[in-house]
Amino acid sequence: MKKLDWNKIKNIDYKKLAKDFWYGKPHGERRLGDLYCDKTGLYKHREWRGFKDTMYYFNMIWLYNYGGLVKEVLKCAGPAGLPLFLKGLWRYRWIGQAYLPVMHWFDRGLEGMRGETLRASGWHYNAMVGVSVQQIMNMLKADGNLRKGEHNDAWNHTFAHKETLWGGVFYPWSDKFEHVPMEMIPYFVTCHVNNHTVLNYIDAAQSIGLPGDPCPMCQAEAGLFVLDDMPDYSPFYVTTNEACDGSVASTILQDWLWDKPLFAMPQPMQFDDPLVQEHCANEIRELWKFVEEQTGVKPNFDLMRQRLEAQNELQRFEWEKWDVAANTGSYPINGVAQALYRIYQSQYGENPIWHETDQKVRKIMEKCVEEKINTMPMTRHRVIAWSCAPLYYSHWCTWAYNCWGLNTVINMDSLMFNMTIRTDDLDNTVLDMAKYHEWAPMRRMAVGGMHHIFELWEYMEKFHCDMVMMYDQLLCKGMQGVHGLFEDEFRARNIHAIWMPHALPDKRNVSRAEIRNIVNDYMTTVMHEEPLDPSLLEFDDGESW
Ligand code: SF4
Repeated sequence: MKKLDWNKIKNIDYKKLAKDFWYGKPHGERRLGDLYCDKTGLYKHREWRGFKDTMYYFNMIWLYNYGGLVKEVLKCAGPAGLPLFLKGLWRYRWIGQAYLPVMHWFDRGLEGMRGETLRASGWHYNAMVGVSVQQIMNMLKADGNLRKGEHNDAWNHTFAHKETLWGGVFYPWSDKFEHVPMEMIPYFVTCHVNNHTVLNYIDAAQSIGLPGDPCPMCQAEAGLFVLDDMPDYSPFYVTTNEACDGSVASTILQDWLWDKPLFAMPQPMQFDDPLVQEHCANEIRELWKFVEEQTGVKPNFDLMRQRLEAQNELQRFEWEKWDVAANTGSYPINGVAQALYRIYQSQYGENPIWHETDQKVRKIMEKCVEEKINTMPMTRHRVIAWSCAPLYYSHWCTWAYNCWGLNTVINMDSLMFNMTIRTDDLDNTVLDMAKYHEWAPMRRMAVGGMHHIFELWEYMEKFHCDMVMMYDQLLCKGMQGVHGLFEDEFRARNIHAIWMPHALPDKRNVSRAEIRNIVNDYMTTVMHEEPLDPSLLEFDDGESW
């Protein structure tokens, strides 16, 4: 048995120990990297954030979220929901593999967060989980695969569409039908929660002869169908070429494998021309005709107006958030929570969960502004992240703040659907809906023409950022084509920019550790700065979820 070292015990600073117990260790003393088990990225034990924040995290984020998962399953499908969920978990790899690591996703994304930032960011994460459960249950309730090919009433009342198609185009039927994006949970959410799952789908797409260099997002989306891992939950589906032609390619494969009536809603890449607006508005009207033919139900435009007004309310609050982020140090939402919540909410469309979350976040944000709380006190640089995002399974945003004080104030994906939609007259509404759709993630500022790609300078100034995290999606042909132009501009404008290579969900091309090393190199060799937490400089989480 190990002997007690009384000298060591005598020399403990009990006052400091009590202070650390109550308030948590100050930033520089935390050594968050020591918490990881080597390679797995799992924690030896969870972070002690001080008594109040640890209790908050455990009760209001951990337990609340587990309770919320069960509550949402029951709310969507009643008591039959739990066995149905278990059936889905057994049948679909992406449910089974993403269910357990959910809390690990929270832990890594909220690592090092304290006080109001922990609370507001946590609510964003909770909302995404709630809406994800809704989507999963709506798929399972209607799923013919779980019912030996039999198609029930729910199947006839659910629309399937590509995740890159804004769900708002289905508002006119939202009192009678559910709409579920095909890949939003099986690909987009799953990848954040457990990035191993998606590799299987990428390999499946390549197993039928696809070369390895197209966009891995589009490959994974097609791979879901190659492996028959998509619930059969709708009589028809709607596709689009948003963000780029990579989506068209994945849709062609999906069409071969799903073989259902399909409506393609293509959008031109260069969308600033007013004639193009008319064309896009007509595409939406054509879509509505198709849905009416398929369902026999007429669109309800009053209902659509109400839903759009509710969506506009979400947008107005988003603008308030941006205002606080841009002009104060009291913005209580960390970079990853801001990015994911915004993409999810604006792409999927209006939902009561977003409103409930925004109310809670508003209270927190107002408190921060009134009391002038410095919500990210270790900020050394205000960062804007630009171009096609590497997804956030890498947890780079939270890591970069904890390790280097790089605070990602805003990112390109958050800024895309930057508009409200007129509801005064149907023609105006449809024109605005077309524009909204064109301003979708990646479409506007990645492949929408130089003017939009270079909106970076304007937003950098607006959000008072002094550094750019420039995402470098190695398999994105569009953004690779403008790499040199950005280099020239960064040099000419004397802007610090870190090029972060990645391959969206495919960590085999660029690992998380490589991403961190590139940031480390820039911060030491170019910025000549010391890390705030040296334990985070190098660690191996290659096998982590
Ligand atoms: S990352 Fe590039 S290639 Fe992939 S969908 Fe986006 S714009 Fe297209």
